[in-house]
Amino acid sequence: MSARRPVSCNEGGTIALQTPYLRLGVNESDRRVNPVDLRPQQIGLFLDVDGTLLDLAPRPEAVEVPTDLPDTLAAAERRLDGALALISGRPIEQLDRLFAPLRLLASGTHGAEIRQTADAPSTWLTEARLPERAWRDLLRLIERFPGTFAENKGVGFAVHYRLAGAAEAELAAALRDFVGGLGRELELCAGYRVLEIKPMGLDKGTAIERFMAETPFAGRQPVFVADDWMDRAGFDTALALGGLAFSVGAEHPGLSGWFPRPEAVRAWVGQLGR
Ligand SMILES: [Mg+2]
Repeated sequence: MSARRPVSCNEGGTIALQTPYLRLGVNESDRRVNPVDLRPQQIGLFLDVDGTLLDLAPRPEAVEVPTDLPDTLAAAERRLDGALALISGRPIEQLDRLFAPLRLLASGTHGAEIRQTADAPSTWLTEARLPERAWRDLLRLIERFPGTFAENKGVGFAVHYRLAGAAEAELAAALRDFVGGLGRELELCAGYRVLEIKPMGLDKGTAIERFMAETPFAGRQPVFVADDWMDRAGFDTALALGGLAFSVGAEHPGLSGWFPRPEAVRAWVGQLGR
């Protein structure tokens, strides 16, 4: 990719099915839906994890999973006849560890991995692993930005700056050049205090499309709940497929509604399971 590309791969909100949120030109209030009114038999539920089901922590490995959450998710999954999947930027193997012994359908690493049946292993949708040398170069690069830290996801890297000072623009510029220099089909995406280097053409939206084409999701209305700018591909896809999109933590124009915080999402998932 060109080093001139904008930082956010999701800029414009028109990726995935090329459908912006306000595609119908209707009044904002007309498209609002109260999630409590949704019927578990009719929806396919796609849940982001960090910042949506779980409260954000200073580092990804420091998140806390409420002790009753695995049971809550399992009950909801049963009521939805299995049509519930986690859609996360984390690798699926990390999701399994977080919610053990529960093992849900899932897409991981921003759409690069998918598990569409409970008993199957997860499948990588790209073979392009980044070389060890690139990882070492990245670690050297971020030494210039105190407080940042990186995650190696195999097919991509994440650079977090939640604990860093105000060097956001400089960090983004340095990573843009870094990605340009790798000479691969990669893109740099901006999330909440994170910059992700990820394979181009795979995202949470493509993952939702794959799930919706198969049982137990096919024929249901997709509902995606997520908290981050990086989730726009998933929002776009859910809406374009005639579904609903809910944000967490802030209200966004064009979406179906929002939850004030992860606790509210957990409470709603709990109600779905009853
Ligand atoms: Mg999130």
